[in-house]
Amino acid sequence: MSYEVLARKWRPKSFSELIGQDGAVQALSNALDKNRLHHAYLFNGTRGVGKTTLARILAKSLNCEVSISSKPCQKCATCKDINNGRFIDLVEVDAASNTQVDNMRELLENAQYAPTSGRFKVYIIDEVHMLSKSAFNAMLKTLEEPPSHVKFILATTDPKKVPVTVISRCLQFNLKQMTSDSISKHLKNILKEEKINYDDESMKIIAKAAHGSMRDALSILDQAIAYSDDKISTKKIVSMLGTIDNTFISSILNALSENNADKVMELSKEMNDKNISFELALEEFARLIHRIATYQIISNSSEQPEENEEIKKLSSLFSPETLQLIYQIAINGRKDLHLAPDSITGFNMTLLRMLAFYPSTQINEEIKPKKKIDSQKNKLNNQNEIKSFIKDNKKQFDGDWIKLVRDLKIGLAKSLAQECSLKSYENDIFNLTLNENFQHLAENGYIKKLEEELINYFNKKIKINITIGSNLKTPSSQKKLENTKLMKKTESAIMEDKFVKKLIDDFGAEVITSSIEPTKKEDD
Ligand SMILES: [Zn+2]
Repeated sequence: MSYEVLARKWRPKSFSELIGQDGAVQALSNALDKNRLHHAYLFNGTRGVGKTTLARILAKSLNCEVSISSKPCQKCATCKDINNGRFIDLVEVDAASNTQVDNMRELLENAQYAPTSGRFKVYIIDEVHMLSKSAFNAMLKTLEEPPSHVKFILATTDPKKVPVTVISRCLQFNLKQMTSDSISKHLKNILKEEKINYDDESMKIIAKAAHGSMRDALSILDQAIAYSDDKISTKKIVSMLGTIDNTFISSILNALSENNADKVMELSKEMNDKNISFELALEEFARLIHRIATYQIISNSSEQPEENEEIKKLSSLFSPETLQLIYQIAINGRKDLHLAPDSITGFNMTLLRMLAFYPSTQINEEIKPKKKIDSQKNKLNNQNEIKSFIKDNKKQFDGDWIKLVRDLKIGLAKSLAQECSLKSYENDIFNLTLNENFQHLAENGYIKKLEEELINYFNKKIKINITIGSNLKTPSSQKKLENTKLMKKTESAIMEDKFVKKLIDDFGAEVITSSIEPTKKEDD
């Protein structure tokens, strides 16, 4: 006996067998059971969600010889003929290949005649948005004054392209994309009936790969059955689809959390050896990060318990901010993948970027990741730089206090630092002298803030000792000196200017020195 593809063999024959379209099914069932019938229906939804299947069940419900009902008998000649695709009063048209007005006219002329054997003549027009404008116009006339024995069921993946005049004459249903969960549940039921062994994870992978389309899921399952001998296993599906199981991705995340560049690269090489699609890997990456981030917020996750353990563990390794960052890098990496010399290079660069941006200190430690390092990391753009950066991301103090203070964020810490000069620095202790005119800054809150700033800056424990002194070379006095110098220079430049000189000489003009401002502005 020849193999019948699953999509055909397992096509739902009744509303109750239809997966994932409860809303539409409920509304249609009510209408049928209460005999509140419309003459035109429009089903929209992405491919493979069951539009034509639903249309055929509706056609059967309307024509079942027993009665019009949401539960057609499946036994009468009409039900059987519809199930077998040979009912004379059910006309299925693929608008994509019959776009012309002539085809539509012919179809509609035919609609005027009474049905041959059924109660209604039912026209299912699939991909209706593909019809030409004149074909739509021809159809509109019939939709406006339809013969009572005619029902139209229009289906489209692109309702925006269907004229409003047509839409407004139809009862419209939006069919939902199927969730991975409902797809994988359905696949499992089929395999149980077909007596084929499988493991749970393999069904999850197929369901995910189908992107909400049951038809695609079933055709992947057909391939999987042909590809496997005794059992459909995760390993086989992974190699068949060139997809990945999450072990790789979570191993990479674990290695990232340890800042282990070697391990990350090793995993990437292993994936390459296994011919895993890096595009899918980055997609999976983003999906997993989303799950971890969601778990951090909602502890009552609906995930499977065994996944929960992994997610739970990973969620303790990353701060929410870092997850956001890694997610963004994964998404961008995927977007740029086709621009990379080859996909493993693109993938590796994405991972290295994650490593470069991964804060050297993470949550649950007293020191929080800091922006200074990140902005510096931004500038790194090749592998070696990144690698050496990762090994050596602790800054050393080079003895230039004034330059260091310039780098600090504006705030209490900076106000204090600006009025201090450096007496000495050793063993991570800054011995500072504070200008006596600013003694009020020597209070503990200010000192603590400055310490924190420096800890963040150098990424290590720092201590500050402060004594009071006078005549100091502080960042603030240094700045004043520079400003004065700059001012003098500007003034003399103006006085030397030929045009200004001429104004003074010829017209007795006077330069108001207080109005002079250097054009070069210092930051602070
Ligand atoms: Zn029947």
